Amino acid sequence: MSSNWSAKTGSEGLTRPDWDAIRLEFPALHQSVNGCPLAYFDHAATSQKPRRVINAMTHYYQSDNANVHRGVHNLSQRATTVYEAARTKTARFLGAADSSEIIFTSGTTASINLVAQSWGNAHLKPGDEVLVTGLEHHANLVPWQMACTRTGARLKIVPVNERGEVSTEAVSEMLTSGTRMFAFCWISNALGTINPAQEWVEMARKRGITTLIDAAQVVAHKPINLQEIGCDFLCFSAHKMMGPTGTGVLYGIKSVLETLDPVFGGGDMIDEVSYERSTWADLPYRLEAGTPNISGVIGLSAAIDFLESIGWASILERESELLSYALEKLRNIPRIRFIGEPKLRSGVISFIADGVHPYDLGTLLDEQGIALRTGHHCAQPLMRHFGISGTCRVSLALYNNHEEIDRLDLAIRSALRLITNVDK
Ligand code: PLP
Repeated sequence: MSSNWSAKTGSEGLTRPDWDAIRLEFPALHQSVNGCPLAYFDHAATSQKPRRVINAMTHYYQSDNANVHRGVHNLSQRATTVYEAARTKTARFLGAADSSEIIFTSGTTASINLVAQSWGNAHLKPGDEVLVTGLEHHANLVPWQMACTRTGARLKIVPVNERGEVSTEAVSEMLTSGTRMFAFCWISNALGTINPAQEWVEMARKRGITTLIDAAQVVAHKPINLQEIGCDFLCFSAHKMMGPTGTGVLYGIKSVLETLDPVFGGGDMIDEVSYERSTWADLPYRLEAGTPNISGVIGLSAAIDFLESIGWASILERESELLSYALEKLRNIPRIRFIGEPKLRSGVISFIADGVHPYDLGTLLDEQGIALRTGHHCAQPLMRHFGISGTCRVSLALYNNHEEIDRLDLAIRSALRLITNVDK
């Protein structure tokens, strides 16, 4: 899709999006925090939202607000049309074979729980193995712990090395004849490590093992082609890709989704109901009980339009350039130690400063208008692996710029000087 952003011509004669104009699309970025301009480096927790997304959701509430799938009246039909159009668009965005393979959920966590419960109950038995990596967000660990407790299956963890990577050799060794499910993050939210998703899926599929990819940290940063990846399930949240909170996607290959019983019963997911029993609707509806997050799905659809209007080639180039710049700046700050130095990484930099609690540093940076995340990043076992309780995490998005990274560099240096002087 061609860009609708006024383009700038680079020195090599390439046309590039006008990143300043794109940045202006994000109203929340243009405010002061503690008397300083906001510099937002917490994209991995949730992204800021462009006007296009906010306006699409507002338009729905102002003009089309009605429940979907249930009304003959005009508003309900309009709401249903935009809701189902969003499903078709999401399927195309991901390269899914059919729009019925897209289940709208409240987010990655809900999507993984749905699979762990429904697929887990149908397919796991005592002695079976579920494999995850040591990099997982709690959302792709706890539901599998619960599924294993329920079914008697065993949870196995592929270890992480000191660089914050999981080796393909280790994965291969741990995919055994007992493994039923291999569930892994494509990109680690805590360290930014990019896993070779396609290679891992191929290895698992050759052995008849079902795969689930947690793509929460992928969707805003890389194009996804499900036909190339070949996974059985893939999950993500709209709010990490410029869309709204409370909306997400579970993709599943149709033949695999068809083996899932609904986890929730109620309206919209049935075919026939009597007082005694019920039968289920076809996919995708039988896995979407109750009124869905209609405005959220409309926001997701607008977020897809927004990302595609910029174009993946430009996004990849921009984010890789910002990452290199930030890595170079932060690496040169005395007392800073990176946690995880993966060879393949996305725009996430986790670090600690010797002798300084991440919360203290985060608080001092906030005083200068700089928003980054501190803590365990919902990856407590991974933090324990590195012998720490948490890190400071800078996460970048296409709307960040060099000026903000320069401010981050100076702010960390001055915060560390302040802490050192107080400590003396
Ligand atoms: N998986 C990863 C890799 C994440 O980064 C996150 C959120 O930070 C999640 C899962 C959970 O996403 P949500 O809270 O939107 O359900």
